[in-house]
Amino acid sequence: MSGDSKRITVIPGDGIGPEVIEPALAVLDVLALGVRLDVLDQVNAETYLSTGSALSPADLDRIRTSEATLLGAVGDPRLGDTAYVRSVLTTLRSELDLYANYRPVRLWHDRLSPLRDDTRRAIDCVIVRENTEGLYSGVGGSTRTGSPQEIAIDVDLNTHHGVSRILDFAFSVARRSVCVVDKANAVRNGGQLWQRCWHEAVERHPQFDTSHLYVDAAAMKLVTDPTAFDVIVTNNSYGDILSDLTAALAGGLGVAASANLNPATRQGLFEPVHGSAPDIAGTGIANPFAAILSAALLIEHLGHAEEADAVRRAVAAAVEAGRVTPDLGGSLSTKEVGAVVLAELRQPN
Ligand code: ATP
Ligand code: MG
Repeated sequence: MSGDSKRITVIPGDGIGPEVIEPALAVLDVLALGVRLDVLDQVNAETYLSTGSALSPADLDRIRTSEATLLGAVGDPRLGDTAYVRSVLTTLRSELDLYANYRPVRLWHDRLSPLRDDTRRAIDCVIVRENTEGLYSGVGGSTRTGSPQEIAIDVDLNTHHGVSRILDFAFSVARRSVCVVDKANAVRNGGQLWQRCWHEAVERHPQFDTSHLYVDAAAMKLVTDPTAFDVIVTNNSYGDILSDLTAALAGGLGVAASANLNPATRQGLFEPVHGSAPDIAGTGIANPFAAILSAALLIEHLGHAEEADAVRRAVAAAVEAGRVTPDLGGSLSTKEVGAVVLAELRQPN
């Protein structure tokens, strides 16, 4: 099927997903990038509950042939965590082979940092998380399930191909340095594979500073010396955990954006790091910054770097002025914050 270069697929999803996607779409609209939005309104928990499947083959085709996809959140307390979310997110990531999870971490304002020491605050790094294998590959099983003798196994699957390509991606987005994070001292086989692939990748990219940390040491250093990092590259599960840690260092889930990419095919799925947040869904106070900043990553992916920077400046200005939602210490609603960002974007500068 041929690609449609001007079409963006949008999956608002569940919970706060549609609430935060709305201001993100308004941002895309005001920038007048000439893109057409193809909103897949029915990819959500309601559809899954009534039909047993939320993402049809036709939806997948629309996504595959679009330039990029913007997703709010999928998840529903009625459905638990696994089958439904996997049927959408894991399917998208594996069908489109979106192996690189790109999570920039930047402190938008001093006030948002939980760290007291000023020198530790100017965090500006990227977590690159392998997105298709590792401990989340879905390989494993259990025997004597439910009995006191139960044995459960989840395979930590790593391939030379998978590890090498995520390391190369990390170097491709680095400005100064790349730090690889693993647990090769305890997780032997995968650890040794990562180490071998790492040494090969370092040889391919001699122009960067490089370092290696075990994941426990990396967690500690991210708190004690976060400004030491430029790009951190790691496997699926460590990346999941460390990126929540870095999100907290930079103001919380309300500002954490991400991209799921395949640099070879140029496919991309852009989404806030947070989930559907059922505890605040419907109350109108969800922070739209993570979705808006994910849209900025999408805009940059489409080749509009200046517009993406304008969106980031608009968010920074809203934060600076304290015109933010309660999670960042403000009192504005999702819609009001969206309006502040739009007003900033409309200002001539
Ligand atoms: P899911 O199962 O879809 O991942 P969850 O219950 O894990 O949902 P998250 O969305 O991961 O919830 O959010 C975790 C916590 O952070 C919740 O208490 C939620 O209210 C808060 N939170 C997440 N996103 C936002 C946001 N955009 N604005 C404000 N608070 C948020
Ligand atoms: Mg969650």
